[in-house]
Amino acid sequence: MNQSNKKNLEFIKNLGVNYFLQDSPRNWFKENKKFPDISSKNVDNSKLSQIDEVIQNIKNHNSVLKKSAKNLVVYDGSINSKIMFIGEAPGKDEDEQGIPFVGKAGQLLNKMLAAIKLKRDEVYITNVVNWRPPNNRTPSDEEILEFLPFLQRQIDIIEPEYIFLLGGVAAKAILSTPLNLRQLRGKWHEYKSLKLDKTIHTIVSYHPAFLLRSPQYKKDSWEDLKMLKKEIQDEN
Ligand code: URA
Repeated sequence: MNQSNKKNLEFIKNLGVNYFLQDSPRNWFKENKKFPDISSKNVDNSKLSQIDEVIQNIKNHNSVLKKSAKNLVVYDGSINSKIMFIGEAPGKDEDEQGIPFVGKAGQLLNKMLAAIKLKRDEVYITNVVNWRPPNNRTPSDEEILEFLPFLQRQIDIIEPEYIFLLGGVAAKAILSTPLNLRQLRGKWHEYKSLKLDKTIHTIVSYHPAFLLRSPQYKKDSWEDLKMLKKEIQDEN
């Protein structure tokens, strides 16, 4: 075991959450579930008030990041959606507008969604960390852990069928894995929360900001998006 794996395992130990990775073949292909309406038209008031409570809890939480940020950034899209996209942390544009993924990376995310015939208001979009880290630095492990309960709570409220993790920070937070993005992408993983009586089918792929810097990986990202598209189609 190398040093970085050791560090990751330590991180996982500290998480104390109930998630697991499953690399064995899925058996949920056979499930014949009707894919629910993912549009944001019919707002579920109970979900809305629970999400509002999470927002309030994040506001009340005394984070160091709050001191340098302008606006809290929690979610965009539909609370009814069965598809959740999770990024890393707000950048400059998101901090100014209080909405996730509205800058250049967000514009690419919109295109990625459109490529699989989804609109922003048909998915739930959030981040691991809800205040902008100074100078857009990557959130530390401590910051990931600090905000993880808020993210877990959102997942428990939204109860998505699918989670699409954008980049290594989201993968680390949700899958508690020492594996890197290249090892994680291109296959399905399963996320389990003790509070939910189901596993959530999860994909890890590249962050749109990374794709802007390294467009040669867009091909792989497209393969990951197609995996999600195929499942959505199969369910309908
Ligand atoms: N990058 C992220 O991870 N999240 C955002 O909201 C914007 C950029």
